[in-house]
Amino acid sequence: MLKLEQFVFNPFAENTYVVYDDNTKECVIIDPGCSDAGEENELFGFIDSHRLKPQMVISTHGHIDHIVGNAAVKKRYGINVAAHPNVKNDFLRSRQQAAMFGLPFNGDCELPDRDLEDGEIIEVGESTLEVICTPGHAQGSISLYAEIEGWVFTGDALFCRSIGRTDFPGGSFEQLRTSIKERLFCLPDDTEVFSGHGESTTIFDEQRFNMFLG
Ligand SMILES: [Zn+2]
Ligand SMILES: [Zn+2]
Repeated sequence: MLKLEQFVFNPFAENTYVVYDDNTKECVIIDPGCSDAGEENELFGFIDSHRLKPQMVISTHGHIDHIVGNAAVKKRYGINVAAHPNVKNDFLRSRQQAAMFGLPFNGDCELPDRDLEDGEIIEVGESTLEVICTPGHAQGSISLYAEIEGWVFTGDALFCRSIGRTDFPGGSFEQLRTSIKERLFCLPDDTEVFSGHGESTTIFDEQRFNMFLG
């Protein structure tokens, strides 16, 4: 069984997740949003004090609040950044996005090192994360499903009682609605949803109470 540590980083209150196997100590870092030395120390301190062995960074999409820490994590642990190939345009705009939102950016617009495709299984210790394509908020948006644990990490596609904005470049409300209804709402009811911002929820509650999907 995987364990999970959540951090809230940067001015956008972005959720960064460390998902790890306590037996093998392998971990992945989902959306490292650490944007200053204090936040980096918080993240690295957790990883190091638990003697975790980072395997890769996974970006759910290419918005700056989710990738601003990629370069620092990559540098510290010498690991790859993995994402869907369609995030390319957003990654290439990352310096511009950082300037626009007043966030530091020291990664020189580096593109992801490794492509993730729909249905791909990422091993984390003795458990797995399955890649589910959920575009609409951004191109190349993915969710990550931990079947054994009953968790899904949805990035900015689905939030507790809300959904991602679709007014950024590459956004589409219809596409997001389809992603959520056809790819996320088919997961078991009691699947716990961990979003890119805000508190967690369940698939069951969002099917019943999310007013944005009509
Ligand atoms: Zn976003
Ligand atoms: Zn976000």
